[in-house]
Amino acid sequence: MSVPSYKDRLLEIHGINMWNTFHVDRAIRFAKSCNLTGIIFHCNELIDKVVFPDKYFDKDELLSFNPVRNSVTKNYRYYLRSVLDKCRENGLEFYGEVKEIYFHNDLITKYPQLRGENGALCATGPFWWEFLEEKYREFFAMFPDVAGIIVSPGTRESMVSFAANRCTCQRCRDYDVDEWYRSLLAAMYRAVDGAGKKLIVRDFSYTKAHQYAMVDAAGSVSDNITMSMKKVPHDYYPVFPDNPAIGNCGKLNQWVEFDTWGQFFGLGVFPCSVSEDMRGRMQRYLDKGATGIMLRTDWENMTQSSVFCGFNMLNLIAGAMISFDVNTDMDAVYDAWFDHGLVSPLIPDSYSQIPCKITEGKDRELFREMMQLCWKILEKGIHVRGHVFNRNCQIFDRYDLTYNIMTVFHSRDQWEPNASKRVEPTGENIPVMIAEKDEALAMARKLRDMIAAASPDVNHNVKTYLEFVAEGFPAYIEGFRLELISTVYTKKAEISQDPGDVQKARETLAGYEELASRYDSLVRNKGYSHVVEYMLDGDRLIRFKADVSRVLDAI
Ligand SMILES: [Zn+2]
Repeated sequence: MSVPSYKDRLLEIHGINMWNTFHVDRAIRFAKSCNLTGIIFHCNELIDKVVFPDKYFDKDELLSFNPVRNSVTKNYRYYLRSVLDKCRENGLEFYGEVKEIYFHNDLITKYPQLRGENGALCATGPFWWEFLEEKYREFFAMFPDVAGIIVSPGTRESMVSFAANRCTCQRCRDYDVDEWYRSLLAAMYRAVDGAGKKLIVRDFSYTKAHQYAMVDAAGSVSDNITMSMKKVPHDYYPVFPDNPAIGNCGKLNQWVEFDTWGQFFGLGVFPCSVSEDMRGRMQRYLDKGATGIMLRTDWENMTQSSVFCGFNMLNLIAGAMISFDVNTDMDAVYDAWFDHGLVSPLIPDSYSQIPCKITEGKDRELFREMMQLCWKILEKGIHVRGHVFNRNCQIFDRYDLTYNIMTVFHSRDQWEPNASKRVEPTGENIPVMIAEKDEALAMARKLRDMIAAASPDVNHNVKTYLEFVAEGFPAYIEGFRLELISTVYTKKAEISQDPGDVQKARETLAGYEELASRYDSLVRNKGYSHVVEYMLDGDRLIRFKADVSRVLDAI
């Protein structure tokens, strides 16, 4: 067998599906059959689910004041051990992916002194470093088969972090942020490396200034730490440029994270190939010295959905094949997907489906063209000139979020100076922005015609899904088109305060009710997965219209 392009090739489960044996077995089967090297459970409090730690809570004490935790912990221990056994039997590694600092609430009940003088948890107390080290020592003593830990240190999503510290004590006021990250990573490294396991540190930056802080902190602890970075500088936005941190991690190993399911490209409800994009990035990142890749298959905030229940399985297959050999031909990737077979995302993820293999040459052409066209539709439909214009794929229900998402929260100015000038509501920009949405809608209608003209040899589930996509995708894009037009004219009126501009903005508010009722008739009471209803929610359109009216009334 040839030497794989990337040494570490991992399948990441992020949703509560990881506690569902049906799903985990399916993931393990796939990983083994596609030469992946391991499985990741990405659960913020994974360690706290299986470790008390004993140093702080003895069993009798827990039985007396929190017997439920004792039983629940025991359940998770048996479950995790069974998953580790299956991974080992199938020649796969297992990694835990966590956020720190996490702990069980019992800890602050027992140790109220962890709170500072104002009642907030004090993020700089030396207790935390001792706690972390102890927690991981106990974890690896109990689960020696775990290959390593992937950690997001100190993001706002953890329970204690310097980033979201509310403590006002003198030590917190004087503490240095770099020192805080270094202390956290050093404590974890002592336990993880001490058990002979790998520590992988995730970079999670919103700004270019923060981009290298984590690399510096990890490098100052040990050269033996691996950095893990997303495929683009912020989140998984497929329209963003390459992540400049990759290739700039000094002596540290580098892994790159990809989303295959579609948190930012259709949630698998509307299909979309990012496999071509993935191939280019994997080739470039290999040249920059990356040695591992992570393939995310779902999202922690969405139940009953994963890449396994839809057409985006193409992306997972692509990720597995291309990470093994970055020169894999795209024909081979699509052929592998057709041989694997297609399933419908209208059916919730926990139902088993018999995949529909695609054998006819003309059908293979159709589905390949469809997956590529769907990306182009989403690229122009739910983005505005390369800016994010959606809420995890949903249409907006609030006006203020539109420009905030595009130019502040998910601004690309950090990585492409002045990019946000392209979306300013100027006389020059507005027609270009609307034309982009017109183009997306025209492509979605072309997709509908393509599906109507074809009669592929597929099973009932896939046929029903194609009928849904034919009508649902244009409706979905129409929602973004309506909202974009209202957004730019409202923003223009807000800036100019001109009554003529306000009037022009009001005229964009026709059509919302009609589209909202179309959304309802497409998805409500059909028995589809709830994720489908999340994607076409008519109430959000109505709320958005009301919010725009309120803004215009106030001018
Ligand atoms: Zn403090």
